[in-house]
Amino acid sequence: MGTTLREVIFDIGGGIKGDGNFKAVQIGGPSGGCLITPHLDVSLDFDSLKKMGAMIGSGGLVVMDDNTCMVEVARFFMNFTQNESCGKCVPCREGTKRMLEILERIVAGNGTLEDLDLLEELATTITETALCGLGKSAALPVMSTLKLFRDEYIEHVVEKKCASHTCSALRRFVISPELCKGCSKCARNCPVGAISGKIKEPFTIDDSVCIKCGACESSCAFGAIRIEA
Ligand code: SF4
Ligand code: SF4
Ligand code: SF4
Repeated sequence: MGTTLREVIFDIGGGIKGDGNFKAVQIGGPSGGCLITPHLDVSLDFDSLKKMGAMIGSGGLVVMDDNTCMVEVARFFMNFTQNESCGKCVPCREGTKRMLEILERIVAGNGTLEDLDLLEELATTITETALCGLGKSAALPVMSTLKLFRDEYIEHVVEKKCASHTCSALRRFVISPELCKGCSKCARNCPVGAISGKIKEPFTIDDSVCIKCGACESSCAFGAIRIEA
């Protein structure tokens, strides 16, 4: 109690793994909120965290680097709390299910701007009317990511892009003509026949057939296949 988030993450925890940069920390367990760099000097105690829309909760910290998709983070935690919902009261039983459906729609590239308003409306209703602590805090990861990373939600629903390449439905696999040797290995590994070309000439991927499995990228020995958001 009283130690700052910065000390816990960087001094005690050893900081960010690899060469990524700190992006956010999800604090308090699956129904906790997210905090970002300006919050790092917050003292870890009940009142200070509550003021920032987070909580100590179970005491867990999930530290994320800048390769993390915050929309997927919200979906992941909503999936967990939805599974945990006992079903006794309607707001939590039905509301978390509807929120999860919306988040799944967004990460699949089928979300709309109206979905963001709906998420906020559902989050407020569930928080105010659910019977127990699980339901009352279930929407916190969604609310905090919508507040702090709204641009990522908008990127998913408007541009149909996931900058971190996390959401597989929004990834696009592209063969670089300069690097491709025309060996055909990717085409032979593609499960849906989305890749075509002539031997010793650059191959191409048909986006309308590709199911974004990633098999081609890992099979190319020349690094000719890249993922675009
Ligand atoms: S809020 Fe509590 S009581 Fe209501 S469904 Fe969720 S877990 Fe059950
Ligand atoms: S595996 Fe790589 S080099 Fe061979 S055809 Fe595919 S993209 Fe080109
Ligand atoms: S990502 Fe999968 S489906 Fe798409 S082109 Fe590559 S191997 Fe084929």
